[in-house]
Amino acid sequence: MSHHAPARRFRCYTWRAFERRDGCHIEAEIECGGAAPCCPGCGAILEARSTTRFARSLPLDANGYDLDCRGCRRFWCVVRHTSRSIRLLRMRRLAAAVRAVRYSRADAERPFAGEQRRIAAVA
Ligand SMILES: [Zn+2]
Repeated sequence: MSHHAPARRFRCYTWRAFERRDGCHIEAEIECGGAAPCCPGCGAILEARSTTRFARSLPLDANGYDLDCRGCRRFWCVVRHTSRSIRLLRMRRLAAAVRAVRYSRADAERPFAGEQRRIAAVA
């Protein structure tokens, strides 16, 4: 991938999130709980911030912090759920599941409704 090329890395002045694959690597390092997590790009120790750039898009009242690599100008947002945010997420998932059941029941009552949706999705 071109954005991983070293020449570009040092000319990049805006902060960007790590790729998901790199993020998983960082999360795995945190899980291990040993040494401070390192940057998957350059191997430097990541610097923890007290807040996250993604604060507004975090689910509900969960909080988080960013792990920064100054060299790569990349960061990874570590999400810390509260017991309340986990409970609310579960309720959201339950609500989505109930909606899904309702849709499939509606399809059973009106046999062509589902078929029309499928045709629309293909078109
Ligand atoms: Zn780095």
